Amino acid sequence: MAKPITRREFIRISSAAVTTAALAGSGLGCRIPAFLREPPLAIPDSGVRTATWCEMCFWKCAGWVYTDGGIPQKVVGNPIDPHCRGRLCPRGTGGIGAYLDDQRLHTPLIRTEARGKQLFREASWDEALERVAQGLKQIDAKYGPGGLALFSHGSGGTWFKHLVKAMGCRNITAPSYGQCRGAREEAYTATFGEPVGSPERTDIENARCLVLIGSHLGENMHNLQVQEFANAVGNGATVIVADPRFSTAASKARWWLPIRPSTDIALLLAWIHVLLEEGLYDHDYVKRYCTGLDELRQAVRHNTPEWAYPITTIEPHTIRQTAREMARHAPATLVHPGRFTAWYGDDFQRTRANAILNALLGSWGRKGGFYNPLRASVAAYPTPAYPKGHTTWRQAPDAFPFATEVLADRVRAASIPAEGRPAPIHGWLVYCTNLPLTLLQPALTYEAIQKLDFIAAVDLMPSEITGWADVVLPECSYLERYDDLRITTTRNATIALRQPAAKPRFESKPGWWIAKGVAEKMGLGRYFPWKDIESYLETRLATIGSSLAEMQQVGVKEIDVGPHRYYFGDGEEIEFDTPSGRIELYSQQIADLGFDPVPRYTAHPEPPAGYYRLLFGRTPTHTFSRTTNNPLLCETMLENEVWIARTVAQMWGIESGDYLLLHNQDGATAGPVRAKVTERIRHDCVFLVHGFGHQQRQMARSFQRGANDNALVTQVSIDPLMGATGMRVNFVTFEVVAPPRGHAPPPLRRGEVA
Ligand code: SF4
Repeated sequence: MAKPITRREFIRISSAAVTTAALAGSGLGCRIPAFLREPPLAIPDSGVRTATWCEMCFWKCAGWVYTDGGIPQKVVGNPIDPHCRGRLCPRGTGGIGAYLDDQRLHTPLIRTEARGKQLFREASWDEALERVAQGLKQIDAKYGPGGLALFSHGSGGTWFKHLVKAMGCRNITAPSYGQCRGAREEAYTATFGEPVGSPERTDIENARCLVLIGSHLGENMHNLQVQEFANAVGNGATVIVADPRFSTAASKARWWLPIRPSTDIALLLAWIHVLLEEGLYDHDYVKRYCTGLDELRQAVRHNTPEWAYPITTIEPHTIRQTAREMARHAPATLVHPGRFTAWYGDDFQRTRANAILNALLGSWGRKGGFYNPLRASVAAYPTPAYPKGHTTWRQAPDAFPFATEVLADRVRAASIPAEGRPAPIHGWLVYCTNLPLTLLQPALTYEAIQKLDFIAAVDLMPSEITGWADVVLPECSYLERYDDLRITTTRNATIALRQPAAKPRFESKPGWWIAKGVAEKMGLGRYFPWKDIESYLETRLATIGSSLAEMQQVGVKEIDVGPHRYYFGDGEEIEFDTPSGRIELYSQQIADLGFDPVPRYTAHPEPPAGYYRLLFGRTPTHTFSRTTNNPLLCETMLENEVWIARTVAQMWGIESGDYLLLHNQDGATAGPVRAKVTERIRHDCVFLVHGFGHQQRQMARSFQRGANDNALVTQVSIDPLMGATGMRVNFVTFEVVAPPRGHAPPPLRRGEVA
């Protein structure tokens, strides 16, 4: 039997994608050497390969899995895939670790004790599916389909969405909408009539000027964006980064603006002011496509760089210089819209200010700005129409008028009885969403869980949420299963196939099989009429003249969708999907709902004395808490560190490598976590990589490694327009403690300054 790859081999593979960004961003303007474009390890002798697309994050890069003796050996990018262009990031390469992890769930489990005690017994699949079916039916019988909610984050969630829709439930949510990209999508839709989408329609590699505001390309390793960023830098594009932290992206920038946290709207308004005051905006574009220029000019007339200086701490001449640099390269200037945008509770308005700035630069629909994406279309497998949908999460009908998706924290709120109001939601089905480490204000999550009649969790790992479930269903890893077709929106209209590269380990099963099994036991089998997943895929593929055999050969297929223009033509008339049919610099629909029609800056609370604003973000080698136990990715980063400014550390007598407990303003605690004393962060904030500090013993590698930032998010500021939950409103202080017993020695030397 072939051996899995070694740690050394893994690090060699995974270094390739990281090197892409590092080389191009070195300031030498060098291109990636040809040898780094090649798969860095030889193909295993058997050469057997199967098509897949990566599940290690949500970018969905397509690749090939090479197996030997039926065991996956390595995953490489599919060269014809527009998501990855043949290169996977380190996490994608580490997908093999998801398969190899012996600490994953082995069998279905049924709770034997009260919730939270973690006493389960192993069960057969037949018994576990029956138990879930009965649980869901009881919720339906007692409260109706609106008594159930589905939390889902991951591609296998497709099957469970179909299942609950077949029941008539529409409480289908993912924390990523309210906690990540939702504010951006709604603000861009209000301005341009369309969202940014995922993968983002950002034309980064053609940009001559790239502006990143709290957006951490390179740490947020969304594959194609990072490749394009590397190419743009290599081609000499100007990079402007506004960030309280000297991020990886900032290290490639011509301007790093270490902005005071929570003041980004002030900087955006000042940039808008300079473009208008100095007449630097794209006059033809604005005249042809935009509405509300006079109202915008009037609204920002006081937002001078001198006004913004004491707020942001960015000097006026820097604000003017950077605005002029943006205008110099327009329309090939891209003010990146970000992805994680739930910061301070005014996130819709901040991302709308970002959209307005792009509109003035004429970058929407223009080369080097935002392109017009393509989407393939494949007919759905014919199933009966869903019954009437029941949505019970929105307690006040007029709350969050711009929310177009279900908000996860509101679903949780609708699961807790409030004074004089019974809770409408009584059962949760949780697909691969580790709510205790994901959904903010975890105390409320535990409170809701205690009130529920029934919880079922489908997961690969024994994550924290599975410890609270009544039934746990082990899904196999993405390398062991078919899934639905990947149909995404990019520069190319493509579809991609995921097929199993290996047999499911232990007793795990694919999501499609689990959902179909539950449906059949509930009497909903007519919604899952396919015999098996192969016949499901064959039926869909036949509608576009393709087949499973063809997709197994190519992995990714481009669909001809006819002529397409990525950018607006010269003088082309465009009808935007907004109330005015134009790009809305001023929004009457927002005004009519009682909100500011042009974004306005309002101050946010500053940290109390002795406290520092908690910022958090990502690392290239992990995707939140989903991967922190992965045996391969653990080798690259086992625990997070808290970044502390050197001046602050000196004041506290903290040195790099010291262990700290972090206490927030409400007394919540996280850690112990190692200190990273650095010049690369402002004095008024600290930074953690998100996703560490697991409290689940079954995940032995990640158990109590580092600090769980989510435990410190006890306060949120909710965006009144669309419900985003701003999380950067928490402050922490330090307590130096002894190193935890049994932990590996810290790689940073005590006293070392990073
Ligand atoms: Fe996988 Fe990386 Fe692509 Fe995400 S960006 S899908 S982790 S290869």
